[in-house]
Amino acid sequence: MALLQPKKLLPTSTAGSLPKPSWLAEPEKLWSPWKLEGQELLDAKQDALRLSLHEQQQAGIDIVSDGEQTRQHFVTTFIEHLEGVDFNQRETVKIRDRYEASVPSVVGEVSRQKPVFVEDAKFLRSLTDQPIKWALPGPMTMIDTLYDGHYKSREKLAWEFAKILNQEARELEAVGVDIIQFDEPAFNVFFDEVNDWGVATLERALEGLKCETAVHICYGYGIKANTDWKKTLGSEWRQYEEAFPKLQKSKIDIVSLECHNSRVPMDLIELIRGKKVMVGAIDVASNQIETAEEVANTLRKALQFVDADKLYPSTNCGMAPLGRQVARGKLNALSAGAEIIRQELSR
Ligand SMILES: [Zn+2]
Repeated sequence: MALLQPKKLLPTSTAGSLPKPSWLAEPEKLWSPWKLEGQELLDAKQDALRLSLHEQQQAGIDIVSDGEQTRQHFVTTFIEHLEGVDFNQRETVKIRDRYEASVPSVVGEVSRQKPVFVEDAKFLRSLTDQPIKWALPGPMTMIDTLYDGHYKSREKLAWEFAKILNQEARELEAVGVDIIQFDEPAFNVFFDEVNDWGVATLERALEGLKCETAVHICYGYGIKANTDWKKTLGSEWRQYEEAFPKLQKSKIDIVSLECHNSRVPMDLIELIRGKKVMVGAIDVASNQIETAEEVANTLRKALQFVDADKLYPSTNCGMAPLGRQVARGKLNALSAGAEIIRQELSR
């Protein structure tokens, strides 16, 4: 139904996560523990999802999401539902080659015995006729958030996860998700692997899908490990240059990337010419709320390298670690900035 609506130029969306209410989980924190349990927690997650949708709608966001209200973390919550991973057997590993974290271990063959997010997606679908986007972790980012004591091969484990993601994605599509997005921040770090098997495993994850597909590649949440890392990247961030040529030739429909307040040279978008581009016009690493004009400026620059009908204004990354007021302000700015450009284009 959603896709039959007249096509609006510059449809806005977020990269995925939005802040959770403080009665659900401790705010402004990654991996924040839940404050409730059992049936109360299940009900509270649904209430939070409703609220998150409402906030997106109030702000005029065109492609809505669940705000990732039912997950503690964009990677680990998905993995928690799989067989073959032991969450009690934790090892400290370096994530994204950047910071150490205690992560669960792969102890046997990985498999998905039951759907992970399908009920949540069905619930979101029942609440709105707007196009909905659902985020899943990408295969490479999944393996990079685990200790593998079984396959002992990053590539082998990535292929296994790709098959599992494909099962989940097909069921999400079947309940009416319009865009399935795979989050692959690891694509900005492990360039050889991206080109050897990263894009191939991503394509395996989206095999057979008829809905639109997206890959989100970013410089991470606004946490200290990431902002410190960004300081070491120099005056021009050219990481996208490594993965984009291969992605341009891939079956993925949309590439979601970070632009605003980053040092990514805008002309790198030229490398994915032909793809739809979710342009990050909102900085998630700062509490400062963008003005509509700042958002419009970023979009205007992006329009030099992407056709207007393929430009999707979005956020640089998820907003889970931000305060709710700040996130609300940023959603409003995104809408207002996109509207400025729509007006300019209609003249
Ligand atoms: Zn991101």
